This record gives sequence, C-alpha cells and structure tokens, in this order.
Amino acid sequence: QKATWSKLINDPTLSADGHQVELAANIGTPNDLASVLDNGAEGIGLYRTEFLYMGRDQLPSEEEQFEAYKQVLEKMKDKPVVVRTLDIGGDKELPYLDLPQELNPFLGFRAIRLCLDQQDLFRTQLRALLRASIYGNLKIMFPMIATLEEYRQARAILEEEKQKLVEAGVQVADSIEVGIMVEVPSTAVLADRFATEVDFFSIGTNDLIQYTLAADRMNERVSYLYQPFHPALLRLIRNVIQAAHHEGKWVGMCGEMAGDPVAIPILLGLGLDEFSMSATSILPARHQIKHLSKAQAESVVEELLNMDTAEEVVNFVKKNFPIS
Ligand code: PEP
Ligand code: MG
Repeated sequence: QKATWSKLINDPTLSADGHQVELAANIGTPNDLASVLDNGAEGIGLYRTEFLYMGRDQLPSEEEQFEAYKQVLEKMKDKPVVVRTLDIGGDKELPYLDLPQELNPFLGFRAIRLCLDQQDLFRTQLRALLRASIYGNLKIMFPMIATLEEYRQARAILEEEKQKLVEAGVQVADSIEVGIMVEVPSTAVLADRFATEVDFFSIGTNDLIQYTLAADRMNERVSYLYQPFHPALLRLIRNVIQAAHHEGKWVGMCGEMAGDPVAIPILLGLGLDEFSMSATSILPARHQIKHLSKAQAESVVEELLNMDTAEEVVNFVKKNFPIS
C-alpha cells in the first residue's frame, strides 16, 4: 500500500472521471511542515494558531507570531495556506487571560467572540498575519462565526489594520482571501447570505456535528449522538456547498470528517473543493479519489439526502463504494 501511495506524492488529485479537488493538511505548529510536504499536501487547509498561545504564561508578541506565520508561508512557497485566527475557549483554555469559568464553555465566550471583545489581542494577530502575507499565499479564516455582523466586524478590523500598515509604508499582499469556518448551524443555514460576502468557506465538522445534534464532542455519554453521517448534517453541508458555488466561491472542509474514507465519496459527490486533513491521510485519500467516479458519487448522494438515519447512510455508502 505504502509504495502505491508514495507514487502519488506529486500528482494532482483527480477522480476516475477527471474531476479535480485539492487535498490539504491541518497543522498546529511550523514543526508539522516536514510531514505535510512529505505526504504530498497541495496546501494547508487549517493552521490552528491556538498552539502559539498555549503552554506559556503570556500572549505571544506580534514579532513572535510574524516569525511563525512567515516560516509556514515560506516553506509552502506558492501553495495556499489558510490560517485560522485564534480559536480559544471551549476545550482550549489560556489561564493567563483569566476568564471566568462558564457552565457551557462550548456555547460560551470563545473564538471570534473573544477576539471581537479583546481587540488588542485580535489586532496584534492580524498585523502579524498581514506583515507575513508577502512571503507566500496567505488566506485568513475566522472561527465560530454565527452571524453576519460578526463576520463583517472581523473583516472591518482586518481592513483597518491593513490600511494602517499600508499608510506606515509596510508591505502587505494585495489580495488576501478572507473566509470563515462554517461550524455553527446558523451559518450553515444562512450560507447563501454569507456567500455573497466571504471569499471562501471551510466546514468545521468537529464542531458543526456537536452543535447540530446538540451532543458535546467531549462527553462520552452522548458520543452515540455524535454522528458525522446524520442526514441533517449532510443536508447542511450540501447547503453550504451549493450556496458557495452559486456565488463562484470555493468550499473546503477541515474537520476530521474530510479524511474519513467513508465520507470522501459523499463529499466528492456533494462537490467539495478542498479536503483538509491530517498529513498522513492525504496519500490514502488521493489513492481513493483516483478510483472514484464523481458522477457516480453524485447519484449516490441524491439517495443519501433522503435517508432517515446515519446508519442507513453508512451502509449505503459502504455497499456502493467498497474501500480497497
Ligand atoms: C472543527 O470544528 O471542525 C475544526 C476543524 O476546528 P477545531 O477542531 O479546532 O475546533
Ligand atoms: Mg472548531
């Protein structure tokens, strides 16, 4: 298997009937890059910047962040690098921010909510990103967007920081795509409205599943409800992809689901453009997609969307797309 896969390192990702998609990697630190390139990633679909902020006793400086972002962009050359702005809260804490304990951290003060409130922290990160933008192909992504106002406010702050840098004579890339994670059901439902304003979407299924089925992703007692193949979730994903394509925007997925061999035929059939996963899943996924027909996947998906349960979905996919 390994030998067959490794031949695919420099290949584009094409289905048996010639449809091209992008396979990207999720990373947490610049140290993950070696494995990304060794595994034939076509880009970074999710750079989780939280790790820069964790395991220390104060915020990372703008300079420190700039160095990390620059390093990732330079190593990836002209390949796309989607950097997610700080997604802290939920299961990830920063003791030095001294935030009050919450009863429902996953429904609380996290990610973009915190960044829009603590703007110094947010603006510092954005400046570091903007300054690093000239070293590669940077795309910026905001996490946990639940309303259009949040997106507009975050984007306005980004534009402000960019303007200030340009006025100060600092070089910034001309066109940086700005997108959002779709991990809150309100945003998946309203995707048509978001699609006119964002440059891209990346579906964060790890959270979208927990919020859609109201099942805490850390709670084992309700893990039976954590169902990636629930028809409701598939319909939300379809809605996001259709809305984006209607506006000529692209859609990625950076939740665990994107690298799952059972999910891949479904996502291909739904028209997902970019699949972002752990680096070691990339070559097996490329091999799998090479043997899948997009046209067949589309017709299977039509049936899945009318099913009642996740179990039916999984059985039907496994029957139609045996995994070699
Ligand atoms: C997600 O929610 O799918 C995601 C990729 O973000 P995280 O796992 O970091 O919450
Ligand atoms: Mg998430």
